[in-house]
Amino acid sequence: MSEQQDRIFLSAPHMSGNEQKYIQEAFDLNWIAPLGNNVQAFEKALAEYNGVAGASVLSSGTAAIHLALRQLGVGAGDVVFCSSLTFVATANPIMYQGARPVFIDSEPATWNMSPGALERALGDASDRGVLPKAVIVVNLYGQSARMDTLMDICRGYGVPVIEDAAESLGSEYRGQKSGTFGDFGVYSFNGNKIITTSGGGALVSNDVEVLDRSRFLATQAREPALHYEHSEVGFNYRMSNIVAGVGRGQLEVLDQRVEQRRGVFQRYYDALGGLRGVAFMPELEGTTSNRWLTALTIDPGEAGVTHLDIIEALGEENIEARPVWKPMHLQPLFEGAEYYPHEEGWSVSEELFRYGLCLPSGSNMTEEEMERVIGVLRRLIT
Ligand SMILES: *Cc1c(COP(=O)(O)O)cnc(C)c1O
Repeated sequence: MSEQQDRIFLSAPHMSGNEQKYIQEAFDLNWIAPLGNNVQAFEKALAEYNGVAGASVLSSGTAAIHLALRQLGVGAGDVVFCSSLTFVATANPIMYQGARPVFIDSEPATWNMSPGALERALGDASDRGVLPKAVIVVNLYGQSARMDTLMDICRGYGVPVIEDAAESLGSEYRGQKSGTFGDFGVYSFNGNKIITTSGGGALVSNDVEVLDRSRFLATQAREPALHYEHSEVGFNYRMSNIVAGVGRGQLEVLDQRVEQRRGVFQRYYDALGGLRGVAFMPELEGTTSNRWLTALTIDPGEAGVTHLDIIEALGEENIEARPVWKPMHLQPLFEGAEYYPHEEGWSVSEELFRYGLCLPSGSNMTEEEMERVIGVLRRLIT
Protein backbone atom coordinates (compact mmCIF):
# COMPACT_ATOMS: atom_id res chain seq x y z
CA MET A 1 0.00 0.00 0.00
CA SER A 2 1.76 3.14 -1.17
CA GLU A 3 -0.65 5.95 -0.53
CA GLN A 4 -2.29 6.79 2.76
CA GLN A 5 -5.96 5.82 2.62
CA ASP A 6 -8.72 8.30 3.47
CA ARG A 7 -9.16 9.00 7.15
CA ILE A 8 -11.96 7.19 8.96
CA PHE A 9 -13.30 9.32 11.79
CA LEU A 10 -14.74 8.11 15.08
CA SER A 11 -18.07 9.86 14.45
CA ALA A 12 -18.35 12.23 11.52
CA PRO A 13 -21.29 14.59 10.87
CA HIS A 14 -23.91 13.20 8.48
CA MET A 15 -26.16 15.80 6.87
CA SER A 16 -29.51 14.93 5.29
CA GLY A 17 -29.64 17.76 2.76
CA ASN A 18 -32.81 19.26 4.23
CA GLU A 19 -30.82 21.42 6.63
CA GLN A 20 -30.16 23.88 3.78
CA LYS A 21 -33.86 24.44 3.29
CA TYR A 22 -34.37 25.66 6.85
CA ILE A 23 -31.22 27.78 6.80
CA GLN A 24 -32.43 29.38 3.57
CA GLU A 25 -35.75 30.13 5.23
CA ALA A 26 -33.96 31.98 8.01
CA PHE A 27 -31.97 33.96 5.44
CA ASP A 28 -35.07 34.78 3.39
CA LEU A 29 -36.85 36.14 6.44
CA ASN A 30 -33.65 37.73 7.77
CA TRP A 31 -34.11 35.84 11.04
CA ILE A 32 -30.41 35.40 11.60
CA ALA A 33 -29.94 36.31 15.23
CA PRO A 34 -31.27 34.31 18.20
CA LEU A 35 -34.98 33.54 18.09
CA GLY A 36 -37.11 32.99 15.06
CA ASN A 37 -39.19 30.32 13.51
CA ASN A 38 -36.52 27.61 13.40
CA VAL A 39 -35.89 27.82 17.14
CA GLN A 40 -39.57 27.39 17.98
CA ALA A 41 -40.11 24.67 15.38
CA PHE A 42 -37.02 22.75 16.50
CA GLU A 43 -38.07 22.95 20.15
CA LYS A 44 -41.54 21.69 19.30
CA ALA A 45 -40.30 18.85 17.09
CA LEU A 46 -37.72 17.77 19.67
CA ALA A 47 -40.32 17.68 22.45
CA GLU A 48 -42.75 15.73 20.26
CA TYR A 49 -40.12 13.22 19.17
CA ASN A 50 -39.22 12.47 22.77
CA GLY A 51 -42.74 12.60 24.16
CA VAL A 52 -42.08 15.38 26.67
CA ALA A 53 -43.97 18.58 27.37
CA GLY A 54 -41.27 20.91 26.12
CA ALA A 55 -37.70 21.63 25.11
CA SER A 56 -35.43 24.64 25.36
CA VAL A 57 -32.66 24.62 22.76
CA LEU A 58 -29.34 26.09 23.84
CA SER A 59 -25.79 26.77 22.70
CA SER A 60 -24.52 23.43 24.06
CA GLY A 61 -25.32 20.39 26.13
CA THR A 62 -22.94 21.70 28.77
CA ALA A 63 -25.04 24.88 29.01
CA ALA A 64 -28.14 22.72 29.46
CA ILE A 65 -26.57 20.88 32.41
CA HIS A 66 -25.46 24.20 33.89
CA LEU A 67 -28.98 25.68 33.66
CA ALA A 68 -30.49 22.54 35.19
CA LEU A 69 -28.13 22.73 38.19
CA ARG A 70 -28.80 26.43 38.51
CA GLN A 71 -32.56 25.90 38.59
CA LEU A 72 -32.21 23.19 41.19
CA GLY A 73 -30.55 25.77 43.41
CA VAL A 74 -27.11 24.15 43.39
CA GLY A 75 -24.62 26.64 44.79
CA ALA A 76 -21.30 27.04 46.59
CA GLY A 77 -20.55 24.20 48.97
CA ASP A 78 -23.43 21.99 47.82
CA VAL A 79 -22.88 18.36 46.84
CA VAL A 80 -23.88 16.86 43.48
CA PHE A 81 -23.63 13.13 42.70
CA CYS A 82 -22.43 12.34 39.18
CA SER A 83 -21.60 9.28 37.06
CA SER A 84 -17.83 8.85 37.06
CA LEU A 85 -17.56 7.18 33.64
CA THR A 86 -18.35 10.10 31.35
CA PHE A 87 -17.02 13.02 29.36
CA VAL A 88 -15.89 15.97 31.50
CA ALA A 89 -18.77 18.12 30.17
CA THR A 90 -21.10 16.30 32.59
CA ALA A 91 -19.10 17.37 35.63
CA ASN A 92 -17.75 20.80 34.69
CA PRO A 93 -21.02 22.66 35.40
CA ILE A 94 -20.89 21.35 38.99
CA MET A 95 -17.66 23.32 39.30
CA TYR A 96 -19.17 26.41 37.61
CA GLN A 97 -21.62 26.53 40.51
CA GLY A 98 -18.88 26.12 43.11
CA ALA A 99 -20.40 22.80 44.20
CA ARG A 100 -18.58 19.58 45.07
CA PRO A 101 -18.98 16.44 42.93
CA VAL A 102 -19.17 12.97 44.42
CA PHE A 103 -18.56 10.33 41.74
CA ILE A 104 -20.57 7.14 41.42
CA ASP A 105 -19.24 4.03 39.65
CA SER A 106 -20.80 2.06 36.80
CA GLU A 107 -22.43 -1.38 36.85
CA PRO A 108 -21.35 -4.09 34.39
CA ALA A 109 -24.79 -4.58 32.75
CA THR A 110 -25.16 -1.02 31.39
CA TRP A 111 -21.71 0.55 31.98
CA ASN A 112 -23.80 3.31 33.59
CA MET A 113 -24.51 4.38 37.17
CA SER A 114 -24.46 1.47 39.62
CA PRO A 115 -27.68 1.41 41.66
CA GLY A 116 -25.80 -0.30 44.50
CA ALA A 117 -23.11 2.37 44.64
CA LEU A 118 -25.74 5.14 44.44
CA GLU A 119 -27.68 3.56 47.31
CA ARG A 120 -24.57 3.39 49.51
CA ALA A 121 -23.62 6.98 48.67
CA LEU A 122 -27.11 8.30 49.46
CA GLY A 123 -27.25 6.26 52.65
CA ASP A 124 -23.96 7.78 53.85
CA ALA A 125 -25.06 11.28 52.83
CA SER A 126 -28.32 10.86 54.68
CA ASP A 127 -26.50 9.65 57.82
CA ARG A 128 -24.32 12.75 57.68
CA GLY A 129 -27.36 14.94 57.13
CA VAL A 130 -26.09 16.40 53.82
CA LEU A 131 -28.01 14.99 50.89
CA PRO A 132 -26.88 16.00 47.39
CA LYS A 133 -28.81 18.79 45.69
CA ALA A 134 -28.95 16.69 42.49
CA VAL A 135 -27.83 13.45 40.89
CA ILE A 136 -26.54 13.56 37.30
CA VAL A 137 -27.03 10.20 35.57
CA VAL A 138 -25.25 9.62 32.24
CA ASN A 139 -26.37 7.33 29.40
CA LEU A 140 -23.08 6.25 27.92
CA TYR A 141 -22.47 5.62 24.20
CA GLY A 142 -26.24 5.46 23.64
CA GLN A 143 -27.08 2.89 26.31
CA SER A 144 -29.68 4.01 28.85
CA ALA A 145 -28.81 3.69 32.50
CA ARG A 146 -31.16 1.54 34.62
CA MET A 147 -33.49 4.51 34.94
CA ASP A 148 -36.43 3.01 36.80
CA THR A 149 -34.23 1.70 39.63
CA LEU A 150 -32.13 4.86 39.79
CA MET A 151 -35.23 7.10 39.82
CA ASP A 152 -36.82 5.02 42.60
CA ILE A 153 -33.71 5.34 44.74
CA CYS A 154 -33.45 9.11 44.20
CA ARG A 155 -37.19 9.68 44.78
CA GLY A 156 -36.84 7.74 48.03
CA TYR A 157 -34.45 10.42 49.27
CA GLY A 158 -36.27 13.29 47.54
CA VAL A 159 -33.24 14.12 45.40
CA PRO A 160 -33.87 15.47 41.85
CA VAL A 161 -32.27 13.84 38.82
CA ILE A 162 -30.64 15.38 35.76
CA GLU A 163 -30.40 12.85 32.95
CA ASP A 164 -27.41 13.45 30.70
CA ALA A 165 -28.66 11.98 27.43
CA ALA A 166 -26.10 13.83 25.30
CA GLU A 167 -25.04 10.49 23.79
CA SER A 168 -28.39 8.70 23.85
CA LEU A 169 -30.80 10.81 21.79
CA GLY A 170 -33.10 8.35 19.99
CA SER A 171 -32.45 5.50 22.45
CA GLU A 172 -35.25 3.91 24.45
CA TYR A 173 -35.74 2.41 27.88
CA ARG A 174 -38.87 0.26 28.18
CA GLY A 175 -40.47 2.02 25.22
CA GLN A 176 -39.82 5.52 26.54
CA LYS A 177 -37.25 7.85 25.01
CA SER A 178 -33.93 8.27 26.77
CA GLY A 179 -33.58 11.67 28.40
CA THR A 180 -37.21 11.84 29.59
CA PHE A 181 -36.90 10.02 32.93
CA GLY A 182 -35.15 12.62 35.06
CA ASP A 183 -36.58 15.92 36.29
CA PHE A 184 -34.43 17.41 33.53
CA GLY A 185 -33.09 15.75 30.38
CA VAL A 186 -30.09 17.00 28.43
CA TYR A 187 -29.22 16.46 24.75
CA SER A 188 -26.21 17.59 22.75
CA PHE A 189 -25.90 18.43 19.06
CA ASN A 190 -22.14 18.74 19.10
CA GLY A 191 -20.32 17.83 15.87
CA ASN A 192 -19.64 14.21 16.86
CA LYS A 193 -23.07 13.30 18.27
CA ILE A 194 -25.70 11.14 16.52
CA ILE A 195 -27.25 14.27 15.01
CA THR A 196 -25.52 17.62 15.01
CA THR A 197 -26.27 21.30 14.55
CA SER A 198 -22.48 21.94 14.38
CA GLY A 199 -22.80 22.81 18.06
CA GLY A 200 -25.76 23.04 20.39
CA GLY A 201 -27.81 21.37 23.08
CA ALA A 202 -31.22 21.15 24.66
CA LEU A 203 -32.90 20.91 28.02
CA VAL A 204 -36.16 18.94 28.11
CA SER A 205 -38.72 18.53 30.86
CA ASN A 206 -42.36 17.84 31.53
CA ASP A 207 -42.45 21.02 33.58
CA VAL A 208 -42.94 23.81 31.03
CA GLU A 209 -42.41 26.49 33.66
CA VAL A 210 -38.83 25.45 34.30
CA LEU A 211 -38.23 25.53 30.56
CA ASP A 212 -39.55 29.09 30.38
CA ARG A 213 -37.23 29.93 33.21
CA SER A 214 -34.38 28.24 31.34
CA ARG A 215 -35.04 30.47 28.30
CA PHE A 216 -35.05 33.49 30.62
CA LEU A 217 -31.74 32.55 32.25
CA ALA A 218 -30.24 31.75 28.84
CA THR A 219 -31.14 35.26 27.60
CA GLN A 220 -29.10 37.21 30.20
CA ALA A 221 -32.03 36.95 32.65
CA ARG A 222 -33.59 39.93 30.93
CA GLU A 223 -36.85 40.99 32.56
CA PRO A 224 -39.78 42.02 30.38
CA ALA A 225 -39.22 45.78 30.34
CA LEU A 226 -38.61 48.24 27.52
CA HIS A 227 -35.37 49.33 29.11
CA TYR A 228 -32.98 46.53 30.08
CA GLU A 229 -33.95 45.37 33.56
CA HIS A 230 -31.99 42.71 35.46
CA SER A 231 -32.29 41.38 38.98
CA GLU A 232 -30.21 38.21 38.75
CA VAL A 233 -27.22 36.76 36.94
CA GLY A 234 -28.00 35.38 33.50
CA PHE A 235 -26.18 33.71 30.64
CA ASN A 236 -25.92 33.97 26.89
CA TYR A 237 -26.83 30.35 26.19
CA ARG A 238 -29.56 30.45 23.52
CA MET A 239 -29.30 28.64 20.21
CA SER A 240 -29.28 30.80 17.07
CA ASN A 241 -32.04 30.53 14.49
CA ILE A 242 -29.55 29.40 11.81
CA VAL A 243 -28.24 26.59 13.99
CA ALA A 244 -31.80 25.53 14.86
CA GLY A 245 -32.45 25.23 11.12
CA VAL A 246 -29.70 22.61 10.90
CA GLY A 247 -31.31 20.85 13.86
CA ARG A 248 -34.71 20.67 12.14
CA GLY A 249 -33.16 18.96 9.11
CA GLN A 250 -31.20 16.56 11.30
CA LEU A 251 -34.10 15.58 13.55
CA GLU A 252 -36.06 14.41 10.49
CA VAL A 253 -33.46 11.67 9.92
CA LEU A 254 -32.74 10.76 13.55
CA ASP A 255 -34.52 7.38 13.39
CA GLN A 256 -32.60 6.57 10.23
CA ARG A 257 -29.34 7.50 11.97
CA VAL A 258 -30.19 5.19 14.88
CA GLU A 259 -30.78 2.31 12.44
CA GLN A 260 -27.53 3.08 10.62
CA ARG A 261 -25.46 3.21 13.82
CA ARG A 262 -27.05 -0.02 15.01
CA GLY A 263 -26.13 -1.49 11.64
CA VAL A 264 -22.48 -0.49 12.13
CA PHE A 265 -22.54 -2.16 15.55
CA GLN A 266 -24.07 -5.33 14.10
CA ARG A 267 -21.44 -5.50 11.35
CA TYR A 268 -18.62 -5.27 13.93
CA TYR A 269 -20.36 -7.71 16.24
CA ASP A 270 -20.82 -10.32 13.50
CA ALA A 271 -17.22 -9.98 12.33
CA LEU A 272 -15.43 -9.68 15.67
CA GLY A 273 -17.74 -11.08 18.35
CA GLY A 274 -16.19 -14.53 18.13
CA LEU A 275 -12.58 -13.38 18.62
CA ARG A 276 -10.82 -14.36 21.85
CA GLY A 277 -10.83 -11.72 24.57
CA VAL A 278 -13.32 -9.44 22.78
CA ALA A 279 -16.52 -8.39 24.59
CA PHE A 280 -18.96 -5.79 23.25
CA MET A 281 -20.80 -3.27 25.39
CA PRO A 282 -24.04 -4.99 26.43
CA GLU A 283 -27.54 -3.76 25.66
CA LEU A 284 -29.78 -4.08 28.71
CA GLU A 285 -32.92 -6.13 28.17
CA GLY A 286 -35.89 -3.91 27.43
CA THR A 287 -33.73 -1.09 26.09
CA THR A 288 -32.75 0.02 22.59
CA SER A 289 -29.40 1.74 22.36
CA ASN A 290 -28.74 4.16 19.51
CA ARG A 291 -25.22 2.62 19.52
CA TRP A 292 -23.76 6.09 19.15
CA LEU A 293 -20.32 4.52 19.43
CA THR A 294 -19.54 0.83 19.21
CA ALA A 295 -17.59 0.13 22.42
CA LEU A 296 -15.84 -3.08 23.41
CA THR A 297 -13.30 -4.40 25.86
CA ILE A 298 -10.15 -6.33 25.02
CA ASP A 299 -8.77 -8.83 27.53
CA PRO A 300 -5.05 -8.80 26.68
CA GLY A 301 -4.49 -12.19 28.33
CA GLU A 302 -6.90 -13.76 25.85
CA ALA A 303 -6.52 -11.51 22.81
CA GLY A 304 -2.73 -11.28 22.87
CA VAL A 305 -2.88 -7.48 22.40
CA THR A 306 -4.08 -4.54 24.47
CA HIS A 307 -6.74 -2.02 23.50
CA LEU A 308 -3.94 0.55 23.13
CA ASP A 309 -2.09 -1.70 20.65
CA ILE A 310 -5.29 -1.81 18.61
CA ILE A 311 -5.80 1.96 18.73
CA GLU A 312 -2.20 2.46 17.62
CA ALA A 313 -2.48 -0.04 14.75
CA LEU A 314 -5.73 1.60 13.59
CA GLY A 315 -3.99 4.99 13.76
CA GLU A 316 -1.29 3.72 11.43
CA GLU A 317 -4.04 2.89 8.93
CA ASN A 318 -5.44 6.43 9.30
CA ILE A 319 -8.39 5.20 11.37
CA GLU A 320 -9.49 7.09 14.49
CA ALA A 321 -10.31 5.03 17.59
CA ARG A 322 -10.36 6.03 21.27
CA PRO A 323 -10.15 4.47 24.70
CA VAL A 324 -13.35 4.46 26.77
CA TRP A 325 -13.75 7.73 28.76
CA LYS A 326 -11.27 8.12 31.60
CA PRO A 327 -13.39 8.11 34.79
CA MET A 328 -13.78 11.49 36.46
CA HIS A 329 -12.51 10.27 39.83
CA LEU A 330 -9.16 9.47 38.14
CA GLN A 331 -8.85 12.93 36.54
CA PRO A 332 -6.31 15.36 38.03
CA LEU A 333 -9.08 17.99 37.92
CA PHE A 334 -11.09 16.05 40.51
CA GLU A 335 -8.23 14.78 42.66
CA GLY A 336 -9.45 14.04 46.15
CA ALA A 337 -13.14 13.85 45.17
CA GLU A 338 -15.21 11.22 46.94
CA TYR A 339 -15.96 8.08 44.91
CA TYR A 340 -18.29 5.12 45.41
CA PRO A 341 -17.26 1.95 43.56
CA HIS A 342 -19.82 -0.61 42.35
CA GLU A 343 -18.82 -2.90 45.20
CA GLU A 344 -16.22 -2.59 47.94
CA GLY A 345 -12.94 -3.37 46.13
CA TRP A 346 -14.50 -3.57 42.65
CA SER A 347 -14.38 -0.46 40.48
CA VAL A 348 -16.19 -1.20 37.21
CA SER A 349 -15.41 2.14 35.52
CA GLU A 350 -11.69 1.64 36.14
CA GLU A 351 -11.84 -1.79 34.49
CA LEU A 352 -13.75 -0.39 31.51
CA PHE A 353 -11.15 2.36 31.15
CA ARG A 354 -8.30 -0.13 31.43
CA TYR A 355 -9.61 -2.44 28.69
CA GLY A 356 -12.17 -0.51 26.66
CA LEU A 357 -12.09 1.17 23.27
CA CYS A 358 -14.50 2.79 20.84
CA LEU A 359 -14.44 2.00 17.13
CA PRO A 360 -15.39 4.39 14.30
CA SER A 361 -19.19 4.36 14.27
CA GLY A 362 -20.42 7.10 11.96
CA SER A 363 -23.83 6.56 10.34
CA ASN A 364 -22.23 7.39 6.97
CA MET A 365 -19.54 4.68 7.13
CA THR A 366 -19.28 2.56 4.00
CA GLU A 367 -18.96 -1.23 3.94
CA GLU A 368 -15.41 -0.79 2.66
CA GLU A 369 -14.53 1.43 5.62
CA MET A 370 -15.96 -1.06 8.10
CA GLU A 371 -13.91 -3.79 6.42
CA ARG A 372 -10.75 -1.73 6.85
CA VAL A 373 -11.42 -1.46 10.61
CA ILE A 374 -12.36 -5.14 10.93
CA GLY A 375 -9.25 -6.17 8.99
CA VAL A 376 -6.93 -4.50 11.49
CA LEU A 377 -8.58 -6.18 14.51
CA ARG A 378 -8.64 -9.58 12.82
CA ARG A 379 -4.94 -9.28 11.97
CA LEU A 380 -3.99 -8.34 15.54
CA ILE A 381 -6.16 -10.71 17.56
CA THR A 382 -5.11 -14.26 16.92
C1 LIG B 1 -21.08 15.63 24.37
C2 LIG B 1 -21.41 15.41 25.77
C3 LIG B 1 -21.83 16.45 26.61
C4 LIG B 1 -21.77 17.91 26.28
O1 LIG B 1 -22.34 18.34 25.15
P1 LIG B 1 -21.82 19.66 24.42
O2 LIG B 1 -22.96 19.97 23.52
O3 LIG B 1 -20.57 19.29 23.69
O4 LIG B 1 -21.59 20.72 25.45
C5 LIG B 1 -22.25 16.14 27.90
N1 LIG B 1 -22.22 14.88 28.34
C6 LIG B 1 -21.80 13.86 27.59
C7 LIG B 1 -21.83 12.50 28.17
C8 LIG B 1 -21.35 14.09 26.28
O5 LIG B 1 -20.90 13.06 25.56
